[in-house]
Amino acid sequence: MTQTPEKYTTTNAGAPVESDEHSLTQGEAGGILLHDHYLIEKMAQFNRERVPERVVHAKGGGAFGEFVVTQDVSAYTKADFLQPGKRTEMLARFSTVAGEQGSPDTWRDPRGFSLKFYTEEGNYDLVGNNTPVFFVKDPMKFQDFIRSQKRLPASGLRDNNMQWDFWTLSPESAHQVTWLMSDRGIPRTWRHMDGYSSHAYQWINAAGDRFWVKYHFKTDQGADYLTQDKADELAGSSPDNHRQDLYGSIEKGDFPSWTLKVQIMPFDDAEDYRFNPFDLTKVWPHGDYPLIEVGTMTLNRNPQNFFAEIEQSSFEPSNFVPGIDTSPDKMLLGRIFSYADAHRYRIGTNYTQLPVNAPKAARQLGTYSKEGSMAYRFNDPSTPVYAPNSFGGPHADTSQQDGKGWEAGGPMIRAAYTQHVEDDDWGQAGTLVREVLDDAGRERLVSNITGHVLNGVEEPVLSRVFEYWSNVDAELGKRVEESVRSQQSDSAPSTALGATTPGDEAEKV
Ligand code: NDP
Repeated sequence: MTQTPEKYTTTNAGAPVESDEHSLTQGEAGGILLHDHYLIEKMAQFNRERVPERVVHAKGGGAFGEFVVTQDVSAYTKADFLQPGKRTEMLARFSTVAGEQGSPDTWRDPRGFSLKFYTEEGNYDLVGNNTPVFFVKDPMKFQDFIRSQKRLPASGLRDNNMQWDFWTLSPESAHQVTWLMSDRGIPRTWRHMDGYSSHAYQWINAAGDRFWVKYHFKTDQGADYLTQDKADELAGSSPDNHRQDLYGSIEKGDFPSWTLKVQIMPFDDAEDYRFNPFDLTKVWPHGDYPLIEVGTMTLNRNPQNFFAEIEQSSFEPSNFVPGIDTSPDKMLLGRIFSYADAHRYRIGTNYTQLPVNAPKAARQLGTYSKEGSMAYRFNDPSTPVYAPNSFGGPHADTSQQDGKGWEAGGPMIRAAYTQHVEDDDWGQAGTLVREVLDDAGRERLVSNITGHVLNGVEEPVLSRVFEYWSNVDAELGKRVEESVRSQQSDSAPSTALGATTPGDEAEKV
């Protein structure tokens, strides 16, 4: 007789299992018996191991840490976790946008920079990117934008022609595309990139004064990037490079940190500021609204389980705390619906009950939400299930309505943002090219654009590409056209702008 081992395998119900190796059969050559419950449980569980990957930001990694307030910004916000000296546990997740779960970390793409602060007033999420701007400014265009960055329906291939077609027909993308094609379009690691709220938010202080705010998390490791060649090499040799780098650094006690700085715009400035401050394709130049330091975020703890704590982590721009609120940025207003909806689909109705998403530091949890798939949390049975009630159940703190929001009115319309004096699609992109990049950076910008365009962009999109860059900067447009044309003529006839769909290839043959 074999001895019962000290640690034995069990079913999910905790009963000891009979074999780790052999399924139950009727004789050696017999069929497998359906009542081999453990085998069935193993197969069924395996079939359900994945949840749907995020439709954007599928490939990522993350870690836990702490946010410490080092300065006093109480004049601008009453948010409890932003008061002097406060320390708050937090979670960060970084990601690429268009690539799928298994895609290389070093593809040229913006990076997600998502933060969850477990505050005593409930979870506060800041779901940003490593760039201060975005490709579009109205949520009506987001789905089309993402589809143009993903894959062709027939071949399942990504297609640069489709990307440039969308970009050149959407001139508001120029600032973000300039950024994307420049050095910071491929960060050296997640530790070496800045993070931005990108959107403007609203801060409210204890006296009820309102401010507009943009967040900048400046990397303490120093901003650094990969050249296209190096990124291409790593995509083959080390596809999980950025995930590995973050995990490895924290494992060896080298904790990455970022300094949070904010730009504060007095509430009334928004009306006639030279740029529409809620247009997500624009920055607020630092000369107008300088950076004000707030505190430091340090990542110091790796997840114990990637799936439970990172894959199932759910960030949502709708998670605000008192003292922080939304702004008229239409992209932000769209995202406030969209994220929680995505989580309900991807993880399930009760995704906020998972430990990584639960408001674990909140002083109170007084929700009337109940039941639904996989409900785990429930109220004391004496708590009524409806409001209002006369049995002492929680009731809303209506004082939270005070002193926030903004004034709006007028007819119901579909229209672009009100243009402020200096608003146009090209100006700030041109400033980036002329005043922030140096000669070598501009050279790499031309080279990156050329490589991208030569990989499948065809007429009539190609002509629009040259026009697009000329609008950003006349000299840049000229250099891009010269560079693309010369490399087109250097390559074999007819294949330089080679088709990327099997149908087109067949025609050429
Ligand atoms: P500033 O000269 O005050 O700031 C320039 C900004 O550009 C800094 O935040 C800097 O970040 C960043 N930067 C430096 N090198 C690069 C690079 N190679 N690629 C991308 N960004 C880089 O200028 P303004 O505030 O007047 O803005 C000028 C232009 O700078 C804008 O049109 C915008 O394109 C870009 N920018 C502006 C930001 C803003 O919020 N005002 C934020 C980031 C960029 P770092 O300190 O990390 O070097």
